[in-house]
Amino acid sequence: MPIPKAHYGGRHTVTLLPGAGIGPELMNYVKEVFSYAGVPVDFEDVDIDPNADDNVDLDFAITSIRRNGVALKGNIETRSTEAEVLSRNVALRNQLDLYVNVLHCVSYPGVNSRHKNIDIVIVRQNTEGEYAMLEHESVKGVVESMKVITSSNSERVARYAFEYAKRNGRKKVTTVHKANIMKLSDGLFLETSKRVAKDYPDIVHNDMIIDNTCMQLVSNPHQFDIVLTTNLYGAIVSNVVCGLLGGAGLLAGKNFGDHYTIFEPGTRNTGTSIAGKNVANPIAMLNAAVDMLRHLGHKNHAALIQNAINKTINQGIHTRDLGGQATSREVVDSIMKHIKIASN
Ligand code: ADP
Ligand code: MG
Repeated sequence: MPIPKAHYGGRHTVTLLPGAGIGPELMNYVKEVFSYAGVPVDFEDVDIDPNADDNVDLDFAITSIRRNGVALKGNIETRSTEAEVLSRNVALRNQLDLYVNVLHCVSYPGVNSRHKNIDIVIVRQNTEGEYAMLEHESVKGVVESMKVITSSNSERVARYAFEYAKRNGRKKVTTVHKANIMKLSDGLFLETSKRVAKDYPDIVHNDMIIDNTCMQLVSNPHQFDIVLTTNLYGAIVSNVVCGLLGGAGLLAGKNFGDHYTIFEPGTRNTGTSIAGKNVANPIAMLNAAVDMLRHLGHKNHAALIQNAINKTINQGIHTRDLGGQATSREVVDSIMKHIKIASN
């Protein structure tokens, strides 16, 4: 049973994790656009100190998300070199059991890119694999790293992919793996997806090795519909597809568990080198915020902002990552102008 979202007098409260780099400035644009569009959402801001050697801030963030059910997130930095202080981005997903990451990659007609009309959904296992963070130096100069694959998590993510296909009229699921080399771990992931596929006879299922997938994505991406894959391959494939569509500044991703949801930019970058320069593309974070509004049931506000984003992109008001000249500010101003026109 999903836990209800925090909801008082028609307004929702969501947790806001600005993170590092460009995260805080992008969150300010989201707040500005929300308040301009009259969105009935309040934010509970939670900062996580990147230098902390303990997990007090992280625990506070987790408590806040447990209370609110939903969060919007930038990339969090972990600078501590203490071995027991793990990546907070990973810890957050693991502790909230956000076992699936969904990245819906659709081309924008107004963005110059190598391929047109791409529409691929990447469904990624989000809590195990190489991200188990179980590494140790067994003897000096020899480091071992555990990759953990379980049948229960493989089954949950596979079922999510096929249910998504069924609900959204998708035709095909491709399991991406390296089971020819990692016969036990990736073998389990692949075999589980084949077993789940039998429950969905109307949906085509095939599988592909990760290296070939990267080549096929670059040369013939239209063959893909839904890609189902493990955590690390999912990170790589997500970046390949975002790159094909226009880079890190456009697309948004969703992290789901049975109880909580976190929305964030699809490629999860910090953008340290471009922070504070008024050049970061604000679209990916705004798209994450729109996804969040749909999830909360604020359909009209979601559509209002989404249309304003699409018009801005299709008019060629692009930051430099998309080959344009516009500043972050100019993109946000254009979005607000279109909100105003649509609201009159
Ligand atoms: P990571 O967090 O993985 O180290 P970076 O933060 O270095 O990645 O981001 C990767 C690249 O993507 C950088 O060149 C960065 O400038 C670019 N990038 C990330 N987010 C945006 C954005 N919103 N707008 C423009 N460029 C971005
Ligand atoms: Mg970085």
